[in-house]
Amino acid sequence: MIEISHVNKWYSPTFQVLTDCTTSVTKGEVVVVCGPSGSGKSTLIKCVNALEPFQSGDISVDGTKVNDPKTNLPKLRSRVGMVFQHFELFPHLKIIDNLCLAQQKVLGRSHDKAETKGMQLLERVGLKEHAQKFPAQLSGGQQQRVAIARALAMDPIVMLFDEPTSALDPEMVSEVLDVMVDLAREGMTMMVVTHEMGFARKVANRVIFMDRGEIVEDAPKDDFFGKPRSDRAQKFLSKIL
Ligand code: ADP
Ligand code: MG
Repeated sequence: MIEISHVNKWYSPTFQVLTDCTTSVTKGEVVVVCGPSGSGKSTLIKCVNALEPFQSGDISVDGTKVNDPKTNLPKLRSRVGMVFQHFELFPHLKIIDNLCLAQQKVLGRSHDKAETKGMQLLERVGLKEHAQKFPAQLSGGQQQRVAIARALAMDPIVMLFDEPTSALDPEMVSEVLDVMVDLAREGMTMMVVTHEMGFARKVANRVIFMDRGEIVEDAPKDDFFGKPRSDRAQKFLSKIL
């Protein structure tokens, strides 16, 4: 579903942020990406839906090359759900309207159809009764669940998460992770930047460890937690576990 092949990216001529990154995510797979702050995790995940350009290598999503100038990027992005650390809901729109906007504007769904889908998804993330509220009236954990529901409303073929729980108060982390665990168990293809190793242990198929722009380790979950090959991954794990 996602093929990342020998990707190199520089933010400036003297600063290479990604070095020869190669990995893939197959349909239904959950891949957790971890590594120290500044190692290039967010940059890599943004390259997947072409929010960041890269200078060499290739990335394709479901067979469509994101770095091909002929690719219809808005169409591609509409199939790739993205959830960030900060929820980025539209503050002036009610929760239900947050879920309807892109369905109508991008997918051309009718208001009724978009609303029905939106309400189904709000029910799924346990927030149906908050449909008529504004984002600021919800807690951080609730807002992040809305952000996930909003991404799902587009019927994505893959979901990308960039530290979705790291801006939340500790007591709200599990309500968001629970939604993500359900999604993983339902077979969604997911690439998740997170340091929540409990989540990784529960549902990840593979764990990627990045350091200084390189994919240092890319291993099945049990191998990764059992015995990371590299010193850098071992040190990182000993600090966060
Ligand atoms: P991570 O998500 O692993 O913390 P990032 O991908 O955000 O890492 O950043 C990797 C490196 O690239 C960091 O050194 C960061 O400061 C730098 N960086 C990130 N975004 C930009 C940008 N838009 N321009 C220049 N440097 C950037
Ligand atoms: Mg980041």
